Amino acid sequence: MSVDGVNKNKISVAIDGPAGAGKSSVAKKVAADMGYIYIDTGAMYRSVAVYAIENGIDTANEPEKVIDLLESINIGIKYENGMQCMFLNGRDVTTRIRENDASMGASAVAVIPQVRERLVRMQQEMAADGGVVMDGRDITTTVLPNAELKIYLTASAHERAMRRYKEYLEKG
Ligand code: C5P
Repeated sequence: MSVDGVNKNKISVAIDGPAGAGKSSVAKKVAADMGYIYIDTGAMYRSVAVYAIENGIDTANEPEKVIDLLESINIGIKYENGMQCMFLNGRDVTTRIRENDASMGASAVAVIPQVRERLVRMQQEMAADGGVVMDGRDITTTVLPNAELKIYLTASAHERAMRRYKEYLEKG
């Protein structure tokens, strides 16, 4: 799968670094400035988690059920005005995946190798034609090891903690 309308001469940008360093904020801004697509890989893990939760699966303790579910899950991604919208078997879950259970569930399903394989493959297909900015813990090493530009973004522990704190405040 490639992203429609992406210029084939554009490069792939991979951003790695610890939580709270500002990876996604920078990635979004760079993508907007350069006319690239920002691919939020965390949203994909969140979508798998929401699907599992909605199918009554305890994501932390039933990995084999999550793996079985991969056969029936269809994760769709659409870009509207540069914003990434997520679809689960055709249903818009862009807002749903930001809820707290989806955050916890995403971390749980992300340790299942079969889930990672499936999503990494999807991410690599999306980046195949370039013109993307992707961030995440495994982006520079596993997903896009040959990206033309790799960035390791970090910040002081204090600054990272403050960023997360403000995010949680904003979410109430
Ligand atoms: O970035 P976000 O909070 O949306 O990611 C949700 C979870 O998905 C992370 O806590 C992490 O466990 C997992 N994740 C991952 N690899 C990525 C992106 C996210 O394992 N590339």
